[in-house]
Amino acid sequence: MRFRSVLKASQAGIKSPSHLRHLRRSYSQHQSQPARPSFGIAFDIDGVILRGHSPIGGSPQALRRLYNDDGTLKIPYLFLTNGGGVPESARAIELSGLLGVKISALQVLQGHSPFKQLLKRFENYPIVAVGKGEPSQVMSEYGFKKVLSIDEYASYFDDIDPLSSYKDWKVKQAYKTDEYSKKSQPIYDVHSDRVKGAFVVSDPVDWGRDIQVLCDILGFGGLPAKGRGHQPALFFASDDLEYQAAFPAERLGMGAFRIALESVFNRTHDNPLEYTSFGKPNPFVFKNAEATLKQILSNVHHNQHTINEVKANSFSKIYMIGDNPSVDIKGAAEAGHPWFSILTRTGVFKGQDNHPEYPANLVVDTVEEAVDYILRKESSCH
Ligand SMILES: [Mg+2]
Repeated sequence: MRFRSVLKASQAGIKSPSHLRHLRRSYSQHQSQPARPSFGIAFDIDGVILRGHSPIGGSPQALRRLYNDDGTLKIPYLFLTNGGGVPESARAIELSGLLGVKISALQVLQGHSPFKQLLKRFENYPIVAVGKGEPSQVMSEYGFKKVLSIDEYASYFDDIDPLSSYKDWKVKQAYKTDEYSKKSQPIYDVHSDRVKGAFVVSDPVDWGRDIQVLCDILGFGGLPAKGRGHQPALFFASDDLEYQAAFPAERLGMGAFRIALESVFNRTHDNPLEYTSFGKPNPFVFKNAEATLKQILSNVHHNQHTINEVKANSFSKIYMIGDNPSVDIKGAAEAGHPWFSILTRTGVFKGQDNHPEYPANLVVDTVEEAVDYILRKESSCH
């Protein structure tokens, strides 16, 4: 790695001028090569860094080792989570507070981050955003102009959810619905504009209502109860069947919701449900993470290299640290070079040895152990 070579050269200069000459030679040899190897790290969040909102596995100490003494970033790393529900900028602020280090929005890749790539196709068309948190705000920040949350969308249709009066917990939302109706008009006319896309941004809160309303939108060509039509596009931010939250046993994730929606839709419609799922283990997500790490690397080295030099750079290794074999480890394995997978025992995986179906390159107890391994390994390589 170039910045490390520079550091070694200046240290060696004090001790031995001949050693310095040797290092200068190898430094210029490095320059003549088109690609300078380097490494980066991608951390899963749930079950590795946090459980619920509490740091686990020594994560704050581990992350601190990736920064210089003055608090600037030393090692390019990012968070690669299938979770989400808030804009990347807000998640970065929340993570910085919980973990005690400065995290930028660029370092946060969530399940729904790839939805940005769909902007051209849906920018000016009516869409709905589903899930906990602020799904419509997430989509608006990406640039989508005509987005309604499924909460707001459903609120304009009387009796669309026949069970709503039994949902005591929805009372709090009633005033929100009032706010919606007072707030002039929805951003598009839900009774005449056909929805072109449904985006499941984060874990749906009211599965029953959401399955019902999504079947209405998807089965009626984007306009509930207005004749059958071509199914609007459907996107899921991830396909995790289960994930590790604060409860001791795993919880049902977005993949479980997808199975429920698909089963119901396919039983009630002639054509099977069509959809695209993002999130790990989708190889696209790992490619995107690699590209983002290069951008972060260019920020780390902005004083030493031009952006073009960094763009030509390639990673000799990117470490994926995760707790879920079928998501984190499978994804890193399928992504291939330069990915190297490290499985922790702080989340979904609790086994003694490696996972039989999706074995990781390395199994450790905690994220702190993983970072310790990486830093030792990388300093002995250079
Ligand atoms: Mg996880």
